[in-house]
Amino acid sequence: MPRTDFSNYNAPADLLQDKIILVTGAGDGIGRAAALSYAAHGARVILLGRTVKKLEAVYDEIEAAGHAQAAIYPIDFSGASEDDYNEMAAVLQKEFGRLDGLLHNAGELGPRTPLGQYPADTWQKVMQVNATAPFLMTKALLPLLEAAPQASVVFTGSSVGYEGRAFWGAYAVSKAAVENMMQIFAAELAETTAIRVNSINPGATRTGMRANAYPAEDPRTLKTPEDIMPLYLYLMGDDSKGTSGQQFLAQPK
Ligand code: NDP
Repeated sequence: MPRTDFSNYNAPADLLQDKIILVTGAGDGIGRAAALSYAAHGARVILLGRTVKKLEAVYDEIEAAGHAQAAIYPIDFSGASEDDYNEMAAVLQKEFGRLDGLLHNAGELGPRTPLGQYPADTWQKVMQVNATAPFLMTKALLPLLEAAPQASVVFTGSSVGYEGRAFWGAYAVSKAAVENMMQIFAAELAETTAIRVNSINPGATRTGMRANAYPAEDPRTLKTPEDIMPLYLYLMGDDSKGTSGQQFLAQPK
């Protein structure tokens, strides 16, 4: 059963002081809120995503608030190869030398179509963005994570990744893969490193992706990305040291 404790965690203002934290999909939705929240708690945030304008807007917000200067790394997961992730790791190694936190948040919904009619090229793309990208990225960034005293890696799951649901297609399959990958990384890294690896299921949250999935829903009935930040903070901060291989719900049922 996924854990629901820490969804009301009260983070100290300096929780992430001087930590270097990379957030994927940082330009919008939950990733944007996480980047802003991590910066507000003292972190130096690396904003990663595919739409530079959105990343620049988050960068500007962090600067205007007087927080530690952010960095931007644009990349489109749908076309990125292993070489691109290795190049990213080399750039970050040179610039920062270590990585204290990695939030795998970027995701693509894909069509809500029965598997019998699911287009093969879209399947590849959704699996690439949601499952292969976090694998290749974590793999490439392991030396930087190992260079930090107590790094935290957080994957983003979904209820349809815990149990398959009709019409959720490659999205659901990719999220199930992510949960499994989290468990494997957690078990393997526990043997030789101080890196902890966990997953968050945000639950229904007021974002563009949710509106695409449920167009008839009134967004005002949903929690906002800001509402679910306590768990995102808990898992990045030292209070979660020693916790690994666990699934967490950001919104208790
Ligand atoms: P949004 O659609 O608001 O944000 C998704 C982010 O991922 C955007 O910043 C987007 O970039 C980025 N992204 C998408 N495709 C790519 C790509 N090919 N390369 C790089 N970046 C990409 O979604 P949410 O904030 O709602 O979702 C965040 C995470 O939470 C996802 O993993 C999602 O599956 C998960 N989730 C969300 C739920 C919800 O109710 N909102 C429920 C359960 C899970 P751009 O802005 O450029 O499009």
